[in-house]
Amino acid sequence: MKVITLGTGSPLPDPNRAGPSTLVRTSSGDFLFDCGRGVLMRSAAAGTGPLGFHTVLLTHLHSDHTTDFNDIVTTRWAMSPTEQPLRVIGPVGTRRFADLTLAMLEGDIGYRMAHHRDLAWRPTCEVQEVSDGVVFDDGAVKIIAAPTDHAPVRPTVGYRVETEGRSVCIAGDTVPCEGLDQIAAGADVYVQTVIRTSLVRAIPSSRLQDILDYHSSIEDAAATAARAGVSTLVLTHLVPPPWPGTEEEWGDEARAIFAGDVVVASDLTELEL
Ligand SMILES: [Zn+2]
Ligand SMILES: [Zn+2]
Repeated sequence: MKVITLGTGSPLPDPNRAGPSTLVRTSSGDFLFDCGRGVLMRSAAAGTGPLGFHTVLLTHLHSDHTTDFNDIVTTRWAMSPTEQPLRVIGPVGTRRFADLTLAMLEGDIGYRMAHHRDLAWRPTCEVQEVSDGVVFDDGAVKIIAAPTDHAPVRPTVGYRVETEGRSVCIAGDTVPCEGLDQIAAGADVYVQTVIRTSLVRAIPSSRLQDILDYHSSIEDAAATAARAGVSTLVLTHLVPPPWPGTEEEWGDEARAIFAGDVVVASDLTELEL
């Protein structure tokens, strides 16, 4: 299994970091977790693309995690020689989100179908709404979901992928909680979206102060990693974007609490496990 952080940014635009998105490459195919800004550009760099995704899994429906979902839907549809519904797994609300996305794309769908005689079908999504337990199992790859805590965004889920005796936890935005502990327990790799509290506090914006109460800080992520006994903690979705050259300060804050390996992810960081 390979874990590739396609996008490690956040809502705050950063020239070097695409929006949050992580690819898990398995023997069963490429599973895409969240699809923030620029996901298809980074996917292309990772050697895959909209036709290569086995399933798109959403942790929650915040815009920074879903903003390029429409790009995946359209590009998969327009590139495919045959009808290929997009499989989507996400929390309750994902079906409505997919339907609204397709409604938004109505004009473009009409233009292309009128122009391309061989494009005789509309884009479709096969949506599976999940809350906890096993959400996918083909005998080679098992994916387990658990509820997380990103209130007032509800519901939100995190995922654990298990294959070939290895496991990765893809947490999404959440504060430490029981569901997170479940899917992180004993994982080889734990990927957590984080904020750096000291930097956010220093920004004179009350709106930014609001984000402190519903994300894991670096310390929270490190404490979860230690409690869960994971081997490697991967920090992603770095808020605010680290000034180039200061990334390892983020890692050192985690290392003060967690004794395992800490990776401060960049776009296209790859971990083989
Ligand atoms: Zn969020
Ligand atoms: Zn986010």
